[in-house]
Order: sequence, then C-alpha cells, then structure tokens
Amino acid sequence: MAKIKVLIEGYAKPLDKGWKASCTTCLITTNDKKIITDPGCNRVKLLEALAAEDLNIGDIDYVFLSHRHPDHILLAGLFENAKYVTFDGNMMYNKDVLLEFDKHCLGSDIEIVATPGHVNEHLSLIVDTSEGKVAIAGDVIWWLDSEEQNFDLHQKDHNQAVDLNMDTLVESRKKLLKMADYIIPGHGKRFKVDK
Ligand SMILES: [Zn+2]
Repeated sequence: MAKIKVLIEGYAKPLDKGWKASCTTCLITTNDKKIITDPGCNRVKLLEALAAEDLNIGDIDYVFLSHRHPDHILLAGLFENAKYVTFDGNMMYNKDVLLEFDKHCLGSDIEIVATPGHVNEHLSLIVDTSEGKVAIAGDVIWWLDSEEQNFDLHQKDHNQAVDLNMDTLVESRKKLLKMADYIIPGHGKRFKVDK
C-alpha cells in the first residue's frame, strides 16, 4: 500500500490586486517510488518540507502535475531525476522523451483519473492507503482561506480560466466522492467523505 504525507497544505487568499496562493503538495511513497504531487510555487516551503522528510530533490522519482495553473506547477523543474506525469495529452516526460502514460504507471496502488471542469485538462489521483482510498483532487475541490471548508457539490470555483465548466466540474466531484474515502483538496483541508 502507498503512504501519503501532505508536505504543504495549499492556501489561497485574494489580495487587493491578485492572489497569494500555492497548492497542496503531497509526497506519496510506494515500495519502489517517491512521488511528489503538484509542487506548487512556494520554493522555501517546499525545500523545508523535503528536508524535514530527509529528502533531497534528486531523491524524487516521479512528479505528478494535476493541471496547468502556475500555482501548481511553477516548481516542477526542480526535480532533476524525476519523470513527470502530466495533464497535457496524458503524456509522461522523461527529460525530453514524451510517452503516453498508463493509468497505473505510478504503481498498482495509485490510479490516475481524468477530472475535467476546473480546466478542461485536469487529472487527480486515487491512492490506496492503510486508511482507505484517498483522492488527491487538485482543484476539483478547493477553498479560499476565508471560506468555511464544508464541502458542497455545487460550491463556486473562484478560478478565472476561460475553460472553466461547472457542469463538468460537478461530474468530476461526484466521481471522486464515489471512488474515495478521503479527499485532499488543491487548497484547504483534507476531509472525510460521508458515505
Ligand atoms: Zn487551478
């Protein structure tokens, strides 16, 4: 079974102009792989969190990128030995070699699922852990710091992407709720799914 450690809990705060935001970053450990999900854009926090796990950036085997927004992917290039599983045409990058990936390329305990809506190209992970199935949701579900973090299927998405589609997003939310016992949002606190 895989283990998940939330290295950084994502945050998002609107400023007078713009935002202060970086996403949730997780470390998934399987028998033979160390995987970082959405490395975010706060370099100091990321390096501190890795050091606290006794890890160097060179120790990471895979980086998973949920979608294209810079607050999720800006630091992706840090990991010199990693392969990159990306939302872009479902391609996995091994340096400059691009190959379409299989949904279990990160291991038998991890499934990559398409979760469009927040933007059209968006992926999430369902991870089999000792406490049950955990969805690393990316921005299928996320909150502002100032919002009450009670999940609602129809909660507003504050993103300004031109390809935001609420109907598709609600379908992706339903899909994750069905598959998972716990959800780790792109920004905000992890929660248990009411079954
Ligand atoms: Zn986003």
